[in-house]
Amino acid sequence: MIDAYEQEAEDFTAELEEEYHRNGAGLKDTCDLAPIYDRYADLFSAERVSEMLARRHSRRERYLAQFAALQYLDRSVCAVTQRIATAETQAVLKWDGEDIPYRLGLALVPKEPDRARRLSLIRRVHSLTARTNEDRLARMAELHRQAEALGFNGYCQLCDELLGIGLGSLCSQMESLLQKSARRWQLELDHFMSAEGIPTDGAHIADLRYILTAPQFDSLFPRECLMPALERTLDGLGISLRSLGNLDLDTAERPLKSPRAFCSPVRVPSDVRLVIMPRGGREDYNTLFHEAGHALHFAHTRSSAPFAYRALGDNSVTEAYAFLLNLLLRSPTWLREVARMPPQEPYLRLAHFYQLYYLRRLAARLAYERKLHAATAPTAELADVYADDLGESLGVQMVPENYLADVDDGLYCTCYLRAWMLEVLLRRRLLEEFGERWFASAQAGEFLRQLWALGQEFNAEELAQRMGYPGLQIEPLIADVMAPDGS
Ligand SMILES: [Zn+2]
Repeated sequence: MIDAYEQEAEDFTAELEEEYHRNGAGLKDTCDLAPIYDRYADLFSAERVSEMLARRHSRRERYLAQFAALQYLDRSVCAVTQRIATAETQAVLKWDGEDIPYRLGLALVPKEPDRARRLSLIRRVHSLTARTNEDRLARMAELHRQAEALGFNGYCQLCDELLGIGLGSLCSQMESLLQKSARRWQLELDHFMSAEGIPTDGAHIADLRYILTAPQFDSLFPRECLMPALERTLDGLGISLRSLGNLDLDTAERPLKSPRAFCSPVRVPSDVRLVIMPRGGREDYNTLFHEAGHALHFAHTRSSAPFAYRALGDNSVTEAYAFLLNLLLRSPTWLREVARMPPQEPYLRLAHFYQLYYLRRLAARLAYERKLHAATAPTAELADVYADDLGESLGVQMVPENYLADVDDGLYCTCYLRAWMLEVLLRRRLLEEFGERWFASAQAGEFLRQLWALGQEFNAEELAQRMGYPGLQIEPLIADVMAPDGS
């Protein structure tokens, strides 16, 4: 039975990824997921999912049960998810005398250099977010109800048990990170806010996002150097991007193509697609290197492993490989030797601040999401909890109306947090074994290929142990974000 289920699950995933890919790559202007779910309805019937949950003896069965339950939950809220997405697509706001789409408004907030206009824009945008909150609350309540109907003691317990998060210990690790990096965060925040003439005690999340966008450094990252920088990096590791027959690299210009790079693992490892429309700028480099990390992982996964190990399991693992390439942009040696740009102190300081922001924000969100999911039927009162929790950790004023839109399903923030912990250990091992220029070592490339080949059979904790560490620890990550130059 498990073999048949796994085969169907793989076919379903391939169709779903193909649809996402065609929409994102600008080959199709709609994203029709419902017919795919309907075609594979058998996989997600309540009986089938309960059967899968009851058979969690082997690792492979556990991964398949995780897949079945999470897809079942997704399906149960499919209609309301679609309604929210449509509302977001159709909503417009007035800006500079014109009607602009809601999502464009969201994207313009961090780019607006005038502070008064930036604050006015974010308020207008989120007054539209607030209109979807009733649907979002109903959606959340339904997810909670379904988690209980599947026999779990709440949504958090479902995620914790099926994804193997170790939620209790992760939360205490993140409290420690928030506490130990608080002073450093405040100093850096003061530095960047005062450089913009913004009083820290009145700073807003829109100001922080503006600072992090850092357009002043975009000229360091020209469009025409983006792909050569990635190819030189991989050449150094002994990997030829263009000769990997199972990795399709799509750099074509298309009007409907997503401006943000993405990776589609349609079938792992035989059909992996990396889609990019190079524009240049720091953010574009960041995204491409992150997505290339996913693509390399999937493209090198051994084909003989069952689907459960090739494409399911712990996503902290693939996120760690993505962060590893991502963080090259923070390495002075890589910047000088591979990207061929002089590493500037102000840029490195900002890159470091960016990572600290990312981590503190996720850590605060984890604490908030636990409270959000603790109630069977969450209420609008959680908007203040969101604004207080994140506001305190980031030292800026948050937008309470964003308390449901700023949450990913399945406690996905835990994947990123565990991934950062694994990435630091992996980078440390590469530095120890292959030196500061590990990214220019074919042996380091071979070491990575061996890890990538495992797919996601082992979770982040187990991979840390396989590399000789006691497990995922918070101290190395804290030391990394507190390092002066972020190398
Ligand atoms: Zn990712």
